[in-house]
Amino acid sequence: MNVLDPRTAIVLISAMSALMALVLWALKRSYPPSIQGPGRWAQALLIIVVGGVLAASRGQLPEILTTAVPNFLLSWGVYGLYAGTQRFHGVRPATWRWLGTIAAVVLGTMWFTWGDPNYAARLRLITALMAVMFSVHAWFIVRQGMGSFSRWLTVGVLAYIAAIQLVRLATTFFLPTGDTILNATPQHALFIASFSVSILLFSVGAVLMAGDRLRAELELLATRDSLTNTLTRRYMDEACAIELERSHRTGQPLALLMMDLDHFKAINDTHGHQAGDRVLVDFATKVQSRLRNKDLLGRFGGEEFALLLPNTPLDAALQVAERIRAACAPHGKEVGCTVSIGVTLSLPQNDSMDKLLARADAALYQAKNAGRNRVVAG
Ligand code: GH3
Ligand code: MG
Ligand code: MG
Repeated sequence: MNVLDPRTAIVLISAMSALMALVLWALKRSYPPSIQGPGRWAQALLIIVVGGVLAASRGQLPEILTTAVPNFLLSWGVYGLYAGTQRFHGVRPATWRWLGTIAAVVLGTMWFTWGDPNYAARLRLITALMAVMFSVHAWFIVRQGMGSFSRWLTVGVLAYIAAIQLVRLATTFFLPTGDTILNATPQHALFIASFSVSILLFSVGAVLMAGDRLRAELELLATRDSLTNTLTRRYMDEACAIELERSHRTGQPLALLMMDLDHFKAINDTHGHQAGDRVLVDFATKVQSRLRNKDLLGRFGGEEFALLLPNTPLDAALQVAERIRAACAPHGKEVGCTVSIGVTLSLPQNDSMDKLLARADAALYQAKNAGRNRVVAG
C-alpha cells in the first residue's frame, strides 16, 4: 500500500498551520482587546509548527532535537490551544500545573528513549497526554455552553482528535509500532493526517468563534445603553414599530410610558455627575426588576426613558406606572429624584409611532406642569 510519506505530510501541514497562525494573529490585532484568545491560539499553532518540523527532521539534527524537544513542543502547543480557549472565555489558565504534567510526561519519554528504550511505551505516554488535553479542552467548551455552529465544530474536532489518540493508544498493544513516527505505517500516516487536519479545523473553529463573539459585542453596543444597560433609542424605535404593527394585527393593546426624572439637573449640580449617573442606573434597575420579559425599557435621552408594554390595557399600564413612580421616590436622605410619567395606548387603527410618542410626550408634559412626581394618561 502506498502511504503518504510522513515527512512530506508534516511539512505541508506545518505550512498550513503557520498560515492559520497568521490569520489568528491578524484577528488579535484587529479585534477589540475584550476578545482574548486569538493571540494565544496563534502562538500555540506556531509552537506546534516548530515541533512538527523538528519531528520531521529526524536524522538531520541531534536526536534530542527530533524526539524529546518536539514531544515537548507539540504537547505545549496543544495545551496552548486550550489556554487560548480559556482566555477567550475569561478563565485564567492553570499554566504551571500543565507545564509540570507535560514536563513529567516528556521526561518519561526521554527515559524510554535513552534509559530503557521502548518506542511503544513512549507512544503510549504521549498519546495518553494528548487524549487528556483534547478531552479536557472539548469538555471545557461544552461547559461554557454550545449554541452556535462554530462551537459545535470546535468541540467536534477536539472530540474526534481525542478519540483518534485513544485509538492510537490502543493500537500500540496489538499492531507493530515501528521505532519512530516517520515509519510509513498506515496507522502513523492516518494519525498524522488526522492530527494535522484537526489542528487546521480547530483553527477555523476558533476564528469563527471569535467572529461570533465580535458580532455579539457589536450587537450589544448597538442595542444596549452602556451606562444603564437599557435598550438604545435606535433599538426602541425598531421595536416600537414592530409592536405597533403586531398590536394592529392582533387587536391587542400596546401601552407606551414616557418617564422623565424630576429636577435631575439639581442632583448633578449638588452631588456631582457621578452621583447623577448612579441615580440613572438605580432607576433603570428598579424599573427593570418590575417588568415582564416581553416589556422593553429604553433610554431616550439623558434622564428620559421609554417603556413599551405589549398586550397591556390602559388600567394595567397605569398600575405599572404608579408602581414605578412609588418605587422611585427617594426615602429619607437618599440621593435620588422622583419621576414623572406620561402613559398612552395605541389606537386600534391608523396609529403611527410618531403619534404614539407625541401623545406620551404630551402626557408627560402635563405631569411635569401639574407639579411632577405623578402619572398622567393621554
Ligand atoms: P425636569 O424636572 O423639568 O425634567 O428637570 P431636569 O433637571 O430633570 O431636566 P433638565 O433637562 O433641565 O436636565 C437634565 C440633566 O440631565 C441635564 C444633563 O446635564 C443631565 N444628564 C444628561 N445625561 C446625563 C448622564 O448620562 N449622566 C448624568 N449624570 N447627567 C446627565
Ligand atoms: Mg428631567
Ligand atoms: Mg429630560
